[in-house]
Amino acid sequence: MGALIKASCTCGFETDFTGGSGKHNYDAVCYAPALCRNCNTFVVKNYLEPFSRCEVCNADVTFYNDPAIQAPCTKQSGETEAASEEKRPFILPTSPCLCPACGKAGLRFEHVGCWD
Ligand SMILES: [Zn+2]
Ligand SMILES: [Zn+2]
Repeated sequence: MGALIKASCTCGFETDFTGGSGKHNYDAVCYAPALCRNCNTFVVKNYLEPFSRCEVCNADVTFYNDPAIQAPCTKQSGETEAASEEKRPFILPTSPCLCPACGKAGLRFEHVGCWD
């Protein structure tokens, strides 16, 4: 099942996206938020693809479950998004993350609904 997720930062940056996967593409698709650290663009990419690139500059993107773009000193405990059994599931971070707009760790994710 997928989830409607809202990302918002204290600076005013705000975006909605659908994460996870639907019924019919459960094995192949798991949409997850990511950050292009090359051009500071927020993107939503398929976490199950081996390589995810930024649509703007073609650089590798960093998914938001990477501690490198989360605020330090906070432990991860969050909901588990649907993923295939072989691959580590994408876990939506509960700690603030690096915001593409202001470059500070003020971006938070919250579930606002579901889709499937
Ligand atoms: Zn980019
Ligand atoms: Zn911000």
